[in-house]
Amino acid sequence: MDIVSRFLKERTLSEEEFVLLLQQSGDAAVRETLRREALALCRNYYGNQVYIRGLIEFTNYCKNNCYYCGIRRDNPHVRRYRLSTEEILSCCREGYGLGYRTFVLQGGEDPYFTDERMTELIRQIREEYPDCAITLSIGEREKDSYRKFREAGADRYLLRHETADAAHYRSLHPEGMNFSHRIQCLYDLKELGYQVGAGFMVGSPGQKLEHMAKDLLFLQKLQPEMVGIGPFIPHHDTRYAKEQAGSVEMTLFLLSVIRILLPKVLLPATTALGTMDPVGREKGLLAGANVIMPNLSPEKNRKDYSLYDNKICTGEEAAQSIASLRKRVESVGCQVVTDRGDAVR
Ligand code: SAH
Repeated sequence: MDIVSRFLKERTLSEEEFVLLLQQSGDAAVRETLRREALALCRNYYGNQVYIRGLIEFTNYCKNNCYYCGIRRDNPHVRRYRLSTEEILSCCREGYGLGYRTFVLQGGEDPYFTDERMTELIRQIREEYPDCAITLSIGEREKDSYRKFREAGADRYLLRHETADAAHYRSLHPEGMNFSHRIQCLYDLKELGYQVGAGFMVGSPGQKLEHMAKDLLFLQKLQPEMVGIGPFIPHHDTRYAKEQAGSVEMTLFLLSVIRILLPKVLLPATTALGTMDPVGREKGLLAGANVIMPNLSPEKNRKDYSLYDNKICTGEEAAQSIASLRKRVESVGCQVVTDRGDAVR
């Protein structure tokens, strides 16, 4: 049996076999076969519903120095900002009015937001919006801190593993950042009862098919509720300024593979995908994705949360443009719903 049929039948493969499968990502017929299967699975579990999340990028201060990231600590050209509690709550208020029932608080690893400050912030949002999900995406912390956030009312946590290969991880991050700690964080979060999101960049510098095969097996082992993947896109102030961006095609292929591997997973069509291709997110929805995360950050700060060059953040990407978002989603036969959008069990 060929590798594609085997994958469709077994829903998993060995590392070597995943490499063989990924080698066929350029084959239009293979892509279409996997895409159809992924779409059918997505329809089976989620119908044609697309969940939306209001993304609040509440600080771009970061103590880390990830080589690929535009807001890394040592980039002196970033205009740093952090939102006040009042500003964050006002983003939530606006988002709620627009139909968002999940707020994603994302930021750099900003020491200003101590456990106490984070906990207080989560409590306030939880109290005002008991019917909404609160998602955190603020990097690595100790288990005890994650526990406090959970007790304060956080439901979900996004922490991309970035790569499941320790040597590749080392090449993308400076000394002091530690692959095993990041992986440990994901298991801690699971244990604490968070809905967990892992994920990786597609086409990050030095990434080989072997690494992506490992990523897939890691995801299968972790069994996260969410998986965020998007193409790597260079940022002009990083050492990777001249590197090639990851491809839309490979990202779409992987979205389909991940949907087949983890049929019930929540899978966003990411901003990075929409940055690389004006209809990238629509293509993502047709390849098995079922989540979109529009930007709810205050207009004045959006340009400063620049993880990579040309990141879309105004116009149609703004959470405020819900009407045109609905149209885009409907153009591919799906429907935006006002719902917390938890993963099906
Ligand atoms: N500090 C948080 C949030 C990081 S930003 C954390 O550590 O989890 C969210 C994601 O953006 C990262 O996990 C990374 O996968 C992605 N990202 C960063 N730089 C990028 C780039 N140049 N191209 C594409 N994605 C990038």
